[in-house]
Amino acid sequence: LVPRGSSPPATAQDPNDEIEAQIDDWLSRMTLEQKLGQLQQLDADFPTGRLREDQLQMVREGRLGSTLNGRGAAATNAAQRVALEESSLRIPLLFGFDVIHGYRTVFPVPLAEASSWDPAAAERSAAIAAREARAAGVHWTFAPMVDVTRDPRWGRIVEGAGEDVFLGSVFSAARVRGFQGDDYSRPDRVAATAKHWVAYGGAEAGRDYNTVDTSERRLREFYFPPFRAAVDAGVATFMTSFNEINGVPATANPFVLRDVLRDEWSFDGTVISDYTAVRELIAHGVAADDADAAQLALNAGTDIEMVSRTFAENGARLVADGRLSEATIDEAVRHVLRLKYRLGLFDRPYVDEAAEAAVLSDPEHRREARRIAGRSMVLLKNDGGALPLADNLRRVAVVGPLADSQVDMMGTWIGDGKEGDVVTVRDGFEQVLGRRGVRYAQGCDAECRSSGGFGNAVAAVRGSQAAVVVLGEPWSWSGEASSRSQLDLPGRQLQLLRAIHATRKPYVVVLMNGRPLTIDWAARNAPAILEAWYPGTEAGNAVADVLLGKVNPGGKLPVSFPRNVGQIPLHYDEKPTGRPFDPANKYTSKYLDVDNSPQYPFGFGLSYTRFALSGLTVTPDSITPDGEVTVTATVRNTGRRAGDEVVQLYVRDRVASVTRPVRSLRGFERVTLEPGQSRQLTFRLDRSDLELIDRDGNPVVEPGAFTVWVSTSSVGGLEGSFSVTG
Ligand code: BGC
Repeated sequence: LVPRGSSPPATAQDPNDEIEAQIDDWLSRMTLEQKLGQLQQLDADFPTGRLREDQLQMVREGRLGSTLNGRGAAATNAAQRVALEESSLRIPLLFGFDVIHGYRTVFPVPLAEASSWDPAAAERSAAIAAREARAAGVHWTFAPMVDVTRDPRWGRIVEGAGEDVFLGSVFSAARVRGFQGDDYSRPDRVAATAKHWVAYGGAEAGRDYNTVDTSERRLREFYFPPFRAAVDAGVATFMTSFNEINGVPATANPFVLRDVLRDEWSFDGTVISDYTAVRELIAHGVAADDADAAQLALNAGTDIEMVSRTFAENGARLVADGRLSEATIDEAVRHVLRLKYRLGLFDRPYVDEAAEAAVLSDPEHRREARRIAGRSMVLLKNDGGALPLADNLRRVAVVGPLADSQVDMMGTWIGDGKEGDVVTVRDGFEQVLGRRGVRYAQGCDAECRSSGGFGNAVAAVRGSQAAVVVLGEPWSWSGEASSRSQLDLPGRQLQLLRAIHATRKPYVVVLMNGRPLTIDWAARNAPAILEAWYPGTEAGNAVADVLLGKVNPGGKLPVSFPRNVGQIPLHYDEKPTGRPFDPANKYTSKYLDVDNSPQYPFGFGLSYTRFALSGLTVTPDSITPDGEVTVTATVRNTGRRAGDEVVQLYVRDRVASVTRPVRSLRGFERVTLEPGQSRQLTFRLDRSDLELIDRDGNPVVEPGAFTVWVSTSSVGGLEGSFSVTG
């Protein structure tokens, strides 16, 4: 919860006087053109990671401060040498890159990592990504994406932590810590970016880049907190979003960029626009031309312009015409130089070219990617113990359009990952059963309408003891500019599944996708479904680990799976209505043609073992607004295998001056238990967990009754209560 006017985080003000004095000195010596150069970021040549000749010339002339996509130790050192040896200013260049879920070693997509409910895992993967990226000359990642969303049509849901603001805030902080460590000047860390500021996930109808119209309450309760968590974790930079917020595009929005970010939160880092977002102010219809766009964005508080060049081309004239003050430009330049100092670039501008290859091929990185991929998978269905596959399995059919597709297993934003490094599901099973033990058939490709390959797939299944059917979305169907209006399996995949089902052979479905899908038929008919998301470089090994029982799945959904698209937005933390669902009453909040409930709820996931919760205690049963409640419960592994359970804590404020969600996640812990083993868990609830924003915009804890649940998903659980006294 991010209330208005809350006090600045302890980490935000870090006045390193010496750095500021040096920046003052730079500013006193720089021409206006050189200042504007620091605010310009351009796109290096993507395939090679090198700067183009015209860009190097700009560096010489002091007209370029940073790049995106520039990378590789040799390429970045070469460009840095131009900045430091051939330019008059000698300010080091800054290299940014989208290191979203791995640099060379590709980890599971962020939505998958959130499914692990293991923030320490996300922190480790970010730390490895940082180590690889920095070794390759990258200083700054445009991650984490901390946009929360309740709309799975929006393709970028894959880049975040799902639908929940609490889970999203925990993962936001974990990823910032992983990328930056305590000190991002170190040679194995990078500066992080909280993006996209803000409410980008609120795009109307889930269509990327579309209009966002949302109340200030929704901003403060839902969209802001993961960003605030990033600030509290010391995030170095923010990126503006493409969308408008209540009529004002984010890149020109002084409310979010100045009032909230700088004044309320005391953020002293750097703000970069998204790709060409400054010039897009013209298309939004708030700027008449480039000069107008530059004026709006700079005055609103955008520091660096990514790719478009309105600042550089118009800044001097805007100052001359009195439309922009030089002090505003100086402030933006200060933010850029501060980042360069904090990254240690003035002391250590170059990277060790001899060390790069070993870091990028460190086998421990692949081992960690395999472990985290296993922890990210969610077992959605397992009827009659279909999984794990039998120990005596000798011959398995591995079929489906994603079963052997290296590129698809990495998902969107693969950094500098190499398709050829990816272990597919087919490869993973061949490692275990040998080539003869695996019959592979594609069946159909992921998108097309042809069923020409069904025969081979069905034959492979008939000739095997069991089948692993790998279905889902091609990698490019989620991520940026990849919105969908339908969420079913693309192409003929459902027909392929039905043809395999008709063989009556045992089979399991493995899903690889970047968003919840509507999988009603499979949910009713398939014996087992494993949601694997896009697991990354070690995909096939991790899938085999789970299906063969070497790893017991323990992930939980970070997002609700709807039954159909018409239910969207569908999320567990809905507000109560005045007419709660009642099947006997026509005039209650429901649909005529579908249940209100999701296919699979938020927080849900099965295991090969079973767990039982017991012994809920809530003490004391009454507190003052500044008091603390302790909730305990015991979780016990009642099955026959070791496994993981994610125990979740939810609260509800029963009566308040404003409506409150029917339940809100406020704590969780993933525990590993041997058969028969139990563990008592303790959660604490304090003011920050119980606060609401009242009608005047103030954060308050109001007296009254609260309900708590300790549960293994967002549905049901052990229930208790306490009250807050006035
Ligand atoms: C995306 C950002 C990304 C940037 C640079 C934009 O299109 O929205 O998330 O960081 O490109 O690649």
